Amino acid sequence: MPTFPDKAEKFIDWYLEVLDAAELTDKRYPVKGMNVWTPYGFQARRQLDAIMIREIERTGSLPVEFPALIPQTEFQKEKDHIKGFDAQVYWVTKGGATDLDVPLVLRPTSETAMYPVFALWVRSHKDLPLNVYQIVNTFRYETKTTRPFLRVREIHFFEEHTCQVDEAAATERVRSNLAAFEGMARSFVLPYVAVRRPEWDKFPGAFYSVALDIPVGGARTLQIGTTHHYRENFSGPYGIQYEATDGSTKHVHQTTFGLSERLVGAVVSVHGDAKGVVFPSSLAPYQVVVVPIVGGSGGEAVLAYARELVERLRARGLRVHLDDSDERPGAKYYRWETHGVPLRVEVGRREAEQKSVTVADRLGSKRPIGPDGVDDGIVAALAEFDERLRAKAQATFAASFTVARALDELRASTTVRVIAWCGSEACGHKVEEAIEGALLGTPEGPLPIDLGVPGPCVGCGTADSRWALAGQPL
Ligand SMILES: [Zn+2]
Repeated sequence: MPTFPDKAEKFIDWYLEVLDAAELTDKRYPVKGMNVWTPYGFQARRQLDAIMIREIERTGSLPVEFPALIPQTEFQKEKDHIKGFDAQVYWVTKGGATDLDVPLVLRPTSETAMYPVFALWVRSHKDLPLNVYQIVNTFRYETKTTRPFLRVREIHFFEEHTCQVDEAAATERVRSNLAAFEGMARSFVLPYVAVRRPEWDKFPGAFYSVALDIPVGGARTLQIGTTHHYRENFSGPYGIQYEATDGSTKHVHQTTFGLSERLVGAVVSVHGDAKGVVFPSSLAPYQVVVVPIVGGSGGEAVLAYARELVERLRARGLRVHLDDSDERPGAKYYRWETHGVPLRVEVGRREAEQKSVTVADRLGSKRPIGPDGVDDGIVAALAEFDERLRAKAQATFAASFTVARALDELRASTTVRVIAWCGSEACGHKVEEAIEGALLGTPEGPLPIDLGVPGPCVGCGTADSRWALAGQPL
C-alpha cells in the first residue's frame, strides 16, 4: 500500500495527497483554483451545510439568496471595502456582444449585493433586528497558490448579514455568532480559538473582526471563520436607516458572520493521519461501511446478512455503505481508511452464522459485537469513536500553544506562540517579523494553557500589555 508524506514534516504535500486518495475533490478542472466537488466530497459538504444551518437558525437567522452579480456602482459605495477587494474581483463587462453600461462584479462576498436591498427592507425599529444568511458560491481572484478547500477562487460560502438597532445590539450579535460557532465546532470536533484581529488585519470596512483560528501543526494556523462588527460603516453609504421609537431617524449597526468550505480542509488537516483522512461522524459521507467477506462457500448467506444489517442501520438514521465490490478485503479496508470512514463493520461466515459483527474504528480499535445488541453496539461504537477523536484533537490543541517571553524566542517557533503585547502596530510588526508570520490578535476567551498575568510587551518592554497570539497563517 502506498504511504503518504509525513504530516509534520511536509504538511502541504501530505494534505494534497490525502485529499486525492480520499476522492474529496477533483482539481483537474481547467480553471485554476476552481475545483470539482466529487460525489464523496459533496456528501461531506451537505453535512457541513446542515450543521451550519441548524446552529444559525437556532439564533433566529433566516435563509435568503441574493444574485451573484453586483453593479459596479453599488460595489464602490464603501471605500475601504472596495480597496480591500479591488485586486480580487472578477468582472462581467459584456452581455453577449454588447458592452454593459454598468460593469458587474461577480460577488466576492455579499455586503454590496444585500445592503441596497436592506435599505428598502428596513424602515422602522419594528423591522429590527434583521438576521439573514445565505449559502452560495463566491468568487475571488486569489493570487497566492491555491489549495483545495483552503484557498480557492470559487468558494462555497456561508454568510450571515444582520442589521441591529445600535452598537450594543450588534456587539451582542457578534457574541451570539461566536456561541453558534461553538455548537458547530463541537459537531466538527474542531478545537479553536476566537481571536480579535489587530486593526491592520481586520476585514475591509469593519469596525472590528473576530476570527476563528485553529493550529494545524508547528506555528501554522488556519482561519476557519470570522465575525465582524461594522458599526454604521456600511449603513451610512447604503442608507440603511430606521425610524426609532422617539421618532428620530437612525442608521442601523451591522454584523456579518462568514464560514466556508475551508472547514472541510480544517477537518482533514486536524484529524487526518498517516493513513489518510479521518472524519468525525457528523461530517462523514459514510459513517459506517459494511464489508462482507465472501471467500469460499456460504458467500450468499454472508451477503444476505450484510444487506439486512445495512437496512437496519439505515433505519436507525446512520449513513451506511455496503462495499460488495469484487476487491479483496484488504484493499477495501485500505480504501475506507484513506476515505476517513469512522467505522468498518466486517461480516464473514462466522459472523453471519452467529448474527454478530466485528467492528474496527478509524482510530485503530477493533472488537466483536453480538450476537445480542449488534445495532445498539454499532451506534455506541460510533459515539465512542467521536469521543476518542475529540480527546485526541483536544490534546493536540493544548500542546499547540507555548509562551514566548522575548522576540528572539519567536524565531523558528514549533508551536503557535503566546506573547505579551502592548497593542501598538509597531510592536505587532516586530512580532510578525520575528515569527515570519502574523500577529493573530488577542484571544476572546481562555486559552488551553495556564498563562497567568502577561509580563512586559515583547516589542517595547512596557508593562501595560495583554496576551496575544502569533503564528504562521496558511
Ligand atoms: Zn510594545
